[in-house]
Amino acid sequence: MKVICIGRNYANHAKELNNPLPEQPVIFMKPESSLMANEEHFIRPLFDSDIHFEGELILRIGKNGKNINAQNARQHISEISVGIDFTARTLQNKLKNKGLPWALSKAFDQSAAIGNWIDLSPQWTLEDINFTLEKNCKLIQNGHSKNMLFSIEKIIAYASKYFTLQKGDIIFTGTPEGVGRICENDIFTGKLFNETVLNITIK
Ligand code: ZN
Repeated sequence: MKVICIGRNYANHAKELNNPLPEQPVIFMKPESSLMANEEHFIRPLFDSDIHFEGELILRIGKNGKNINAQNARQHISEISVGIDFTARTLQNKLKNKGLPWALSKAFDQSAAIGNWIDLSPQWTLEDINFTLEKNCKLIQNGHSKNMLFSIEKIIAYASKYFTLQKGDIIFTGTPEGVGRICENDIFTGKLFNETVLNITIK
């Protein structure tokens, strides 16, 4: 399986990191070894002291597809949840400045925290999904899919031009504003429609 991630998918987050707005989705990937299950402890890596949390709406693919039309994209999603895209920010900035790939700063072990999966309800509209991230019981990120620069359907259509989407693949859809540095003993809680789906403690 693979993890496909979207960068700069919310205007206010692009602004907070001084990044220009993309004309096409910015795509990067994480390997299977980066996955971290809900309730696990995140062990801070030694190579960067500035690890950022990025709370994101995540999707799980339920049906294989290539060159998927945006109108059919929904049929390829089986479940949704909230995840954290952990990012080694100092390292990412170094790589970005040199025009190098972000892999080392984005794809390390435990960098893809995955909340409990919730079946995609037929009652939900993909443009109307609210998710939040709390740090130590304080709201720090409040995301809504209607604020995405590239909608869920567009992301699936775009990514599947390049990669066959396979059952079990995971898509991180980008982070809204409010990202920041993690500290020892921080507790992160991810909620989907106000229901807790993710709980991660930093060690
Ligand atoms: Zn991200």
